[in-house]
Amino acid sequence: MTASAPVGLPVPSPRAPLVVVEDLVKHYPAKDGTWGRKKRVHSVDGVSLAIGPGEVLGLVGESGCGKSTLARAVLGLTAVDSGRVLFDGTDIAQARGRDRKALRQSMQLVFQDPLSAFDPRMRLGTSLETPLAQHRLGSREERRERIAEALGQVGLDETYLDRLPQECSGGQLQRAVVARALLLRPRFLVCDEPTSALDASNRAHILNLLVDLKDRLGLTLLMISHDLRVVRHLCDRVAVMYLGKVVEVAPRQELFESPAHPYTRALLASSLPESPEAQGTFSTLQGEPPSPVSPPSGCRFHTRCPKAQQRCGGEAPGWNRAKVEQHQVSCHFPGP
Ligand code: SF4
Repeated sequence: MTASAPVGLPVPSPRAPLVVVEDLVKHYPAKDGTWGRKKRVHSVDGVSLAIGPGEVLGLVGESGCGKSTLARAVLGLTAVDSGRVLFDGTDIAQARGRDRKALRQSMQLVFQDPLSAFDPRMRLGTSLETPLAQHRLGSREERRERIAEALGQVGLDETYLDRLPQECSGGQLQRAVVARALLLRPRFLVCDEPTSALDASNRAHILNLLVDLKDRLGLTLLMISHDLRVVRHLCDRVAVMYLGKVVEVAPRQELFESPAHPYTRALLASSLPESPEAQGTFSTLQGEPPSPVSPPSGCRFHTRCPKAQQRCGGEAPGWNRAKVEQHQVSCHFPGP
């Protein structure tokens, strides 16, 4: 089965995709405080994306926009309401037996908080062996060799095997998190805010490490971050998410130099006020995002958009091409 183009995003990726996300929807039950009736949190609402082999796709947006839910759904860690995820042409929800096992090994998550990623009572060696034992991979000896190899790939030596998590620095522990993700020799890594718990120097080290690993091991990455500096450093293309929907996708340079969606422009001005692209050009983000329990009708950004017109509140925008083919924007009035 060949991967098809995702619904609603006509030009998804410059390369034949390794990962295809098609019209994914994930809503959670939410309690209505007034009447006690169940409402739904529209966490992910019709997201389509594609990621080419060896590509790093950045996914940015404010907290609560659905990025982490999307990450878990892409990995098959949470059941979706509708839509599907294809990995190398296989629908991950339909895979069974050996195919399912291979898929689980090929797709790994790099956690956000290194301290909570490990059991505090367990030495790192034991924690690192667990996924190999769960997948029944190799003898004890072979597992040790594979762990040593993964530690070497992230710049740690075998002395760390005897340490408890609290005996490591945040940066060392995040390297161990990356090593654990590499143990099963994945092809695709989802990095969910991998540097958000680190200081500036460790953040730079981990980002450089991820760039290096991607090149050396030919990995494909989905890099989730609220920090535009992270995606500017690392990503080939960037998708911008607002209130459960992707609103703009573009090659990195194009997105930072010619953002077309008013939300992206405001996000840039708010996150990178010092950047030449943002200097005095855009309005910063005003107010809080609306509740994902009852998202606004039409364009979801219309309640905060400085360019909103009457049409925006009643009609959801489709996809428009911006300057270049790979630059897609979901807005009735894109551009400056
Ligand atoms: Fe703003 Fe209208 Fe574009 Fe939405 S569709 S981002 S409200 S201009």
